[in-house]
Amino acid sequence: MNDLVYRRETCRLCGSSALKVALPLTPTTLADAYISVEYLHEEQPVYPLDLYLCGDCGFSQLLDIAIPQVIYLDYIYETVSSLGLVDHFRRYADEIAAIIRTPEKALVVDIGSNDGTLLSFFEERGMDVLGVDPARDIARKATASGIETLPKFFTYELASQILNERGPANIVTANNL
Ligand SMILES: [Zn+2]
Repeated sequence: MNDLVYRRETCRLCGSSALKVALPLTPTTLADAYISVEYLHEEQPVYPLDLYLCGDCGFSQLLDIAIPQVIYLDYIYETVSSLGLVDHFRRYADEIAAIIRTPEKALVVDIGSNDGTLLSFFEERGMDVLGVDPARDIARKATASGIETLPKFFTYELASQILNERGPANIVTANNL
């Protein structure tokens, strides 16, 4: 353990402390934390990955939590690299546009917008778009490609800032999870 990871003592869902290891797993590096060949001799940090089960509500979960800054600031995964996901987002934007009759130039905010793929389809439909993603390089590239992306974690303060700057009306959230 170090200051980059902390341990929960209660269930994320019901708050119970009746938690038992259901699947012990070997500590591992962060997902997508690839390194180049010249660093292969260096030891990478690993994080506990045991899966716990709540005895009260049955929810399975990790209790060892890497802090978000470790996971996301230099995150390298990009939406466009997942086969089929781009088409899914195109269809998803069509479905949302059909269900929600948005005013012209409505603002669509994608929290965890990654490379802006989903927002690009809303932009094609004439909406204003704004991405929020703490992955610095990905946010910079998305902005450079025309999808304005704030390189930040989504917080209450940031939500207030967006509302103040872009107006409370005409905002649609698009969560791609
Ligand atoms: Zn529980």
